[in-house]
Amino acid sequence: MKLALVGVGQAGGKIMEAIVSYDRRADVGFVADAIAVNTARADLVGLDATPLDRRVLIGGTRLKGHGTGTDNELGADVASEDIDEVMRAVDEVAVHDIDAFLVIAGLGGGTGSGAAPVVARELRRRYAEPVYGLGILPGRTEGGIYALNAARSFLTFVEQVDDLILFDNDAWREGGESLRAGYDRLNAEIARRLGVLFSAGEITAGQAVGESVVDASEIINTLGNGGISTVGYAATAVERPRARLFAGRKPAPDVGDATNRVLSTVRRAALGRLTLPCELAGTERALLVVAGPPEYLDRRGIERARRWLEETTGSMEVRGGDYPLDSDYVAAVVLFSGVTEVPRIEELKALGVEVQRRMRELEAEAPDGLHDLTWSGDGDGDDLD
Ligand code: GDP
Repeated sequence: MKLALVGVGQAGGKIMEAIVSYDRRADVGFVADAIAVNTARADLVGLDATPLDRRVLIGGTRLKGHGTGTDNELGADVASEDIDEVMRAVDEVAVHDIDAFLVIAGLGGGTGSGAAPVVARELRRRYAEPVYGLGILPGRTEGGIYALNAARSFLTFVEQVDDLILFDNDAWREGGESLRAGYDRLNAEIARRLGVLFSAGEITAGQAVGESVVDASEIINTLGNGGISTVGYAATAVERPRARLFAGRKPAPDVGDATNRVLSTVRRAALGRLTLPCELAGTERALLVVAGPPEYLDRRGIERARRWLEETTGSMEVRGGDYPLDSDYVAAVVLFSGVTEVPRIEELKALGVEVQRRMRELEAEAPDGLHDLTWSGDGDGDDLD
């Protein structure tokens, strides 16, 4: 499936580059174009892989390239004012070649949080292709203002995209590791999940064609029209017999083993850590992609895994397919769309209401008190009482 990526804000730009880098390493070409948008010149300069003409500075007149801090209303304002700058870059995308747009942003900061929904709305207004969002939820330790921004941005962003895929930084923090130190690791995890998902169906020259390939329309139909999605991933190492190196001899993994390996990998993908932890029961639609060496992509295993997903989610709309890859792993990616029971979203919304209440109180007492809410560091965003 061919995508045009638009990374907004610092997290948006970095994650966009992580996805581009996955695409290049895998030599697939599912990224047709990638544009970085920011109010902070330093963040744009800090990108590695994005050509200069694909970096768009917005709000330059007002902000002089210094960013929005954590003011997401300012992020939204300057995006509206400079939307033509962004669209000029998008106009150079060969839109007839793409299946969809993916707008990527951290929802807790200022620029991505405020500007991503504005960019998504304009893309939808101008183009017929679906516009998806990839939103990053802040860590709990980042402070109340991040929670408030994320809660507000989520509510706006989800309305402006055809589907919003979420990743919760908090659920992915490793003990003892600071959020910042973990970004590269998190970005690689995000890129791997979305990379396998969006690569499916993009057959490169010389590659084996899957027995039941997942094509772009299946991904689009699973993402649907509106709502939020989460993605699971797991991989199992396989021993590729040396025999395959000798011409004409195909390795023959044990069929029963291959079936079970696929099934257990899919179960681990679905029941392990999702990009956004949630209840699987009640999921409206799901899509399963099993990737790996063709001789290990057991059809019966995929079919059984698909049925298991139907039972687990209660959804009658579970699609599935394979994606042949020259790899030492069998990997499963499961996209759950239209998920409704998401404790972290409920928590962020409640926290957002609480932060707003505290801000109003502090404003009434002394305007300087607002600083208490804008720190980021080792405090706990939950401690708002
Ligand atoms: P913006 O530039 O104003 O949009 O703000 P940032 O993108 O710097 O930060 C917004 C949110 O994204 C915060 O909650 C950060 O924790 C998170 N964030 C920043 N950089 C990264 C990153 O590289 N990866 C991930 N996963 N999250 C990030």
